[in-house]
Amino acid sequence: MRNAILRDLQAEYEQQRMRNDQENQRRLVQATAACPEIADLMDDRQSMIFAGLRGILDGRVQGDDLPARMDVMNGRIAALLTQHGFAADYLEPVYRCAKCKDTGYVGEPVKDMCECMRSAFYARLYQQVGLGEKAPQTFESFDLNVFPDKQVEGQTLTQRQMMQMIRDMCQGWADQYPRAETSDMLLTGPSGLGKTFLMHAMAKRLLDRGFNVLMMSAYRFLEVARKAYFSGQNGELDSLMEADVLLLDDLGSEPLMENITIVQLFNLINERQTAGKGTVISTNLSVKELRDRYTERIASRLTDKRQCTLVRFMGEDVRRI
Ligand SMILES: [Zn+2]
Repeated sequence: MRNAILRDLQAEYEQQRMRNDQENQRRLVQATAACPEIADLMDDRQSMIFAGLRGILDGRVQGDDLPARMDVMNGRIAALLTQHGFAADYLEPVYRCAKCKDTGYVGEPVKDMCECMRSAFYARLYQQVGLGEKAPQTFESFDLNVFPDKQVEGQTLTQRQMMQMIRDMCQGWADQYPRAETSDMLLTGPSGLGKTFLMHAMAKRLLDRGFNVLMMSAYRFLEVARKAYFSGQNGELDSLMEADVLLLDDLGSEPLMENITIVQLFNLINERQTAGKGTVISTNLSVKELRDRYTERIASRLTDKRQCTLVRFMGEDVRRI
């Protein structure tokens, strides 16, 4: 996935450089048509550069005043441009990014990706793994202060203290995968308690660690499973199976189509567990509700402590506070 994105970007940058060349050419034709003297000056400047270089190469010229003469020439060109209603730098090469001159790379001799290409690369990567195009939520941007420091009913800890523990669990899992204690995680609890945020943070951390990650809503999963069922071809189901870590968000929110959802969900969880691949599932349902909705077979896979860490979110909906 990473290589394909990079290849696309490099091709687009090459296209951009070609468009730049065309624009430079267009400007030159336009400006010299308006003021032929500019063309003469540019020819002179070109000859001056060649002569200067030749002189240096022949060893005839030392401590040349070429830069100073160039400045004079450039000043005259700029003056003529403004006289004819153009910007003084109208004939300077155009770039979308001046830093890398639209090559996508900076630095000599060791090349590094330019900031412009890096941000485009990550925007696409995040979008392709299901995190959306904007910068994803991260452990660093997770703010414990939004959770009330108030004891949760029936618990000894406050909501904030619980969230700190949960954040540490999620972060630890994402940092240790695939050597985390369990291959799977089940995040349960009502909405508005930060489950999706932490899933995004886990996905982001795993991506940064170089894993092939896929995040998908349960609703979208049903669409993919349905398509596979009716077409008789796996299609996108394969990418769900192949991802190092699959994050399935909001299980239980999708309409239930028993012969599709349950069969495909079981296959997915089962095959991924057999292959030792990580799966993170978030749901508003309790374990009992999961059992009622998705059968004992699936529920037992997700409550097997050797395979899956159960994380319970509790407290008040922070979106309402
Ligand atoms: Zn750049």
